[in-house]
Amino acid sequence: MFWWQDEVGHGVRVAFTDCGAGNLALHTGDDPAAVRERRAALEREMGVGGGSLLFLEQVHGTEVADADRPDRPAVPTADAAVTATGVPLAVMVADCLPVVLVATGPEGPVTAVAHAGRRGLLDGVLERTVEQVRARGARGLAAWIGPSVCGSCYEVPAAMQEESVRRIPAVAATTAWGSPALDLRAGARDRLAGLGVDVTEPTAAGPSCTLENERLSSHRRDPRSGRFVGLVWRATPGDRAERAA
Ligand SMILES: [Zn+2]
Repeated sequence: MFWWQDEVGHGVRVAFTDCGAGNLALHTGDDPAAVRERRAALEREMGVGGGSLLFLEQVHGTEVADADRPDRPAVPTADAAVTATGVPLAVMVADCLPVVLVATGPEGPVTAVAHAGRRGLLDGVLERTVEQVRARGARGLAAWIGPSVCGSCYEVPAAMQEESVRRIPAVAATTAWGSPALDLRAGARDRLAGLGVDVTEPTAAGPSCTLENERLSSHRRDPRSGRFVGLVWRATPGDRAERAA
């Protein structure tokens, strides 16, 4: 079910799913009942309450949802989310970068997720997310970048490459077959490092490139393959009891 998962300290777990968890998106033409059943199975595997995992209506923007707001919609329209109370967070991807952030806040961990595709990355979704984590008094930010299409596979028209490189020079790349490409991972590393965030790129069995690894959903390889997710949640019973108090 998980391509990679680990406890990253303070009882916080970070994970990225693979095809074992199946398509977790409701917007890709899949049977909604099947998607809901897969989401429920994922929540059981994570050990979080049924229906507690926050999904987003992702629009390639830079909006950061406050998962702790009592009046927030059940499915906020945003490409990132932040919580200081341990709401389990999910971000859906299939070639775009799933980015998970964890930091130490005044009253426990502050966690966030972001969907960084080309548009969001260039427009500053990572900057906005880091800003919102820090706005909660958090320090010691660490980021995990999950599987995405790699710079040797992500072919784009020359004009799109130019526009992107003007904003973030680090995304310049060439495909394995010699045409213009974008390395969004390099761009994300560059942005996060510039913001003083410690970056980890987990490795697991097989390539971390979604296009090359058939255990991961890739929109470019198969538009109907759906989405996998990046996840962050608190796993220790102590944290849950604290939250309930
Ligand atoms: Zn690749």
